[in-house]
Amino acid sequence: MGEIWIKEAERLGDGSIGGAMDTPTAPPRVVWHTTESGHGDTSFKNVGDYLINVGAEPHILYDPTTDRIAQYGPLNESARALRNDGLTRTNRTGRVCIQIEVLARASNPFTGYWKPGPNFKALMRAIRSWGVPDVWPAGALADRYADPDVSRSRTVWATKGGHYGHSQVPGNDHWDPGAIDKSAIFRAAGSTTTPSQPSAGSTYTVKDGDTLSSIGAATGVKWQTIASLNGIKSPYTITVGQVLKLKSSAYRPTVSVAHLNEARAKDIPASTGHTTYKTEVLVVERALVAEGLLDERYVDGSWGTKTQDAYDAFRRKVGYSGSGATGSVGLESLKKLASRRGFTARA
Ligand SMILES: [Zn+2]
Repeated sequence: MGEIWIKEAERLGDGSIGGAMDTPTAPPRVVWHTTESGHGDTSFKNVGDYLINVGAEPHILYDPTTDRIAQYGPLNESARALRNDGLTRTNRTGRVCIQIEVLARASNPFTGYWKPGPNFKALMRAIRSWGVPDVWPAGALADRYADPDVSRSRTVWATKGGHYGHSQVPGNDHWDPGAIDKSAIFRAAGSTTTPSQPSAGSTYTVKDGDTLSSIGAATGVKWQTIASLNGIKSPYTITVGQVLKLKSSAYRPTVSVAHLNEARAKDIPASTGHTTYKTEVLVVERALVAEGLLDERYVDGSWGTKTQDAYDAFRRKVGYSGSGATGSVGLESLKKLASRRGFTARA
């Protein structure tokens, strides 16, 4: 399950605005609206009440100038800010159809002057928790009423997940949210990926703002593959800090602390043919590279000073200090590295 109530959001109304989705197996989506009003707390109150009075509640009311956010109803049920397309209840299309009313006017795109903050990030975190991809499947947003360049394709709406403007929903004729900067929405969400992380290993550690699709884009692995490798099913919820496999790992290497410490004590060079030790040292070295602590060129299966320094840095990174972060390798710290980097540690 994704996030149903955003903990950072104020509540508006009685918490019940719609009901179950009609096509819960269709991809999840978001619809952006503008309230065609001013912003600030007075507008927030007036427009917030007005939307209840006319029965046109979105899920979310957002002030782009103050980062204030409120929520009317659960994200896994429908909202009421769209018109039906004939018999198709557009409010109820998709796994989720999260509707956001931004206190702004379509004629003055809010991304030109907004100040998104932590509450906007929280909103995007909740959106991504439902597996909504960072895309605008219907293309260009309207920049005026009846803009002929805007598509309201029924096929796209029925089959593609992602972000839509009200202007792109079939059966509707509004042109909000105007020509906002589509990519600014994702940039403001605080999605960050460390380019060195995916290429370095066969796992990926989930960071704030990640979705399966953003991880897929960053790693070059199809998000569907990542989902199946990790047993993640609809609605594709992932959590910060979770370690995802990027490759099938029928073989999960085991590394022995005793072997490592013997390799360390003797500084066994790769050339002497101690293949067991070499293989295990290589696993640890690759894990340290993936942690960003060891340069690729020192991955040689020999536990030298570079490997030791990198391991000590890892120990400090996970909270060890003083003598606990130097010297021989301990099982506890190795287990920490193993769980983050997809191998098994033993005594
Ligand atoms: Zn609208």
